[in-house]
Amino acid sequence: MTEQFSRRDFLSTSSQVGLAAVFAGAVPTVLVGSGASPDGKPAVLGGTPMNKASYSGWPILQGDEEKNILEILRAGQWFRGYQNQGMVAEFEKEFATANGANACVATSNGTGALIATLAALDIGPGDEVVTTPWTFIATINSIIAHFALPVPIDVDLETFQLDGKLADAACNENTRCLLPVHIGGAPANMDEFIAVGKKRNIRVIEDACQAHFGQWRGKKLGTLGDAGCFSFQVSKNLPSGEGGAVLTNDEDLAERIYRCHNNCTGRRTKALDGSYGMVRAFNFRMAEFPAAVLRAQLKHVEKFAAIREANGRYLNKLLADVPGVYPAKIEEGGTMSAWHL
Ligand SMILES: *Cc1c(COP(=O)(O)O)cnc(C)c1O
Repeated sequence: MTEQFSRRDFLSTSSQVGLAAVFAGAVPTVLVGSGASPDGKPAVLGGTPMNKASYSGWPILQGDEEKNILEILRAGQWFRGYQNQGMVAEFEKEFATANGANACVATSNGTGALIATLAALDIGPGDEVVTTPWTFIATINSIIAHFALPVPIDVDLETFQLDGKLADAACNENTRCLLPVHIGGAPANMDEFIAVGKKRNIRVIEDACQAHFGQWRGKKLGTLGDAGCFSFQVSKNLPSGEGGAVLTNDEDLAERIYRCHNNCTGRRTKALDGSYGMVRAFNFRMAEFPAAVLRAQLKHVEKFAAIREANGRYLNKLLADVPGVYPAKIEEGGTMSAWHL
C-alpha cells in the first residue's frame, strides 16, 4: 500500500470506474447487475442518474410494527412480566431460532447485554479482558463498569478486524475473557479466538452489536463463542430504537445472565418460581414495546442481510479496481458479512 495518489488522480480515475455506484449502495437498493451509469459518467458530473427513485430512509417499517404495539398497548402488558410469554419472551425464542442458538436473553440495549454477560462471568477488579482498540466505546465501557482492565491488541491492516494471532501473547494469569468485536459487521477470525480460549481455559464473548446475521464458516456471528452480545439501537441492521440481546448455547450461562440483567431474579417459567442468586445484578430488562417492533423487523431482516451481502461484495470488487483504494478484506472463514453501515 505504498503507491502515492493525489486527490486529483483519485477523483479522475474513480469517476471513470463508476464511483456513482458507491453512492447508490444504500440498502435496500439492489445494486448487483445494475452496472455502471449508462453514459459512464457520475450524475454529479452531468451523467444519467442510476437511481431515479428516492433513497429509502432508515429505519424501514416492515408492516406489523403498529399492530404489535397496539396489541400490547391496549392489553396493558407493557412489562415483560413474570410469565414466559409476551412480546419479549416470543422475540427471545424467535431470535435464538433465527440464529441457531439455544438461548437468548433480551436486554434494554447492547451495552447492557455486554455488562450483564461480563457480570455473569463474575469479571471484576484485578481481572483482564483482551479486546480491541477499534470499536464503539461501549465495548470498553462494559469492561470498566466492572473495574476490570481492558487489554487492547492490534487490528489486522487488511481486514480491520482484531488480530487473533496476537491474543495468546496478551494473556496472563489475570486474563478472564477474550472479547473480540465483529467491527463493521465483518467477521473477526473466530477460529483463532476460540483456539486461544480453549488453550487458556477462558471464555470468549463476541461483541456482535454490529454483526446481525453475519456468518463465520456458515454459523451465525454471536453463536460461535460462549456468548454473543447484540444491539438493536436504531442505527443497527435490526433496529428497535433501543434494545439488545445475548445469545448463548450454554443454558446455565443464560440463566446467570438473566439474573444479572434482572436484579438477581431468575427466569420464572411458572408463576412464582423465580429464585434469587447472589450475582452482581442490574436492571437491563427489555420493555414490551421494542420487542413488538423487533418481532416485526425480524421477519424480514435476513432478506435485507442477503441484499447487503450481494451489494457489499459487488462494491468491494469494483472498488478494488480503483488505483489507491484497498477495500477491507473479509477473512477467508467469513462466509457472510453483516455490512453494518
Ligand atoms: C452499538 C454498539 C454497542 C452498544 O450498543 P447500544 O445498544 O448502543 O448500547 C456495543 N458495541 C458495538 C461494537 C456497537 O456497535
